[in-house]
Amino acid sequence: MPTNYSYLLRDNIQNLVPYTSARETYTAKEGIFLDANESPYGPYNRYPDPMQFALKKRLAELKKCGVDQIFIGNGSDEVIDTVIRLFCEPNRDKALTFTPTYGMYKVSTQINGVELIEQPLNPQFQIDVKNLLPYLDDADLKLIFLCSPNNPTANTIDKKTIEIILNRFQGIVLIDEAYIDFSDKASWLTLLNQYPRLIISQTLSKAWAMAGLRLGIAYASPELIGYFNLIKSPYNVSSVNQQKALEQLTKIDRIDRQVAELIAERKRVEIALRNLPSILKIYPSETNFLLIEVSDAFSIYHQLIDRNIIVRNRTNEITNCLRISIGTPQENTQLINAFNTLDYV
Ligand SMILES: *Cc1c(COP(=O)(O)O)cnc(C)c1O
Repeated sequence: MPTNYSYLLRDNIQNLVPYTSARETYTAKEGIFLDANESPYGPYNRYPDPMQFALKKRLAELKKCGVDQIFIGNGSDEVIDTVIRLFCEPNRDKALTFTPTYGMYKVSTQINGVELIEQPLNPQFQIDVKNLLPYLDDADLKLIFLCSPNNPTANTIDKKTIEIILNRFQGIVLIDEAYIDFSDKASWLTLLNQYPRLIISQTLSKAWAMAGLRLGIAYASPELIGYFNLIKSPYNVSSVNQQKALEQLTKIDRIDRQVAELIAERKRVEIALRNLPSILKIYPSETNFLLIEVSDAFSIYHQLIDRNIIVRNRTNEITNCLRISIGTPQENTQLINAFNTLDYV
């Protein structure tokens, strides 16, 4: 039975009459197209498929879900923004996330005039369930952002905790799985049918090596995806991006090999750095980066730049921590060599 989401949606969204584009009104491929005020000339003259059908069909094959369970956005940023605009009434409703985490939840809720409750993760970077439970009963809390594996802490959130949230909370739960391909834990994708208010966001930017194409994906029930489609910009993914992504998604063996190599390299870098005096701790990682606690993040960050290596200083989120992406084997060896030449402070 389809779930009724109307109690969750913003009023203006429930009453919305969407824009209908020319390419939706007439979908056949053949004909003399004089319906969209396009130029008749050149390779890029036509508007793209507004529903990205070919790309969704390929994703549906790969992820073993329905085409109608997929929304494709201009990066995950569009997925995050769309979810907020569907469910959170500005200046009234709230969203919640667990910090430290990905910065876009905060920025996007702020832009939309929605309060974001930030609950600190515990020292193991897990959710403190007992302190969370009272929030779940707040009728104005509409949305929970849960990043797993989490950026920048590099770990996944316990399955049991997520189950408690999914079962107790009556609002929408967005699980951001940008790094799931680097984890040995299962994606929540297979449980989508069990949880009607669950949205899973993944991206082609990390393991799939297409950050330049800006393609973020939401997986959810067909009804929820219908609401995404209702409010999205008509042509939100360019035809060039759709085509290039489709080309890349035929090379799955190569992507699998690259992911396996990145995971092996993550292990190698971790072992090589583990006993250096400037490194106090390397957190276990289920991502393509390492979170490293150092003696002095500021000094080491700048010493690495002097050696032509740029990492991310996360000391404002987690004291004296650097976040280091895993590169090619050659790049990683240069990173290890650079660490071996640092002046310790
Ligand atoms: C990198 C990252 C993304 C990807 O964002 P895109 O806009 O799809 O490139 C999403 N979520 C998290 C937590 C990330 O770290």
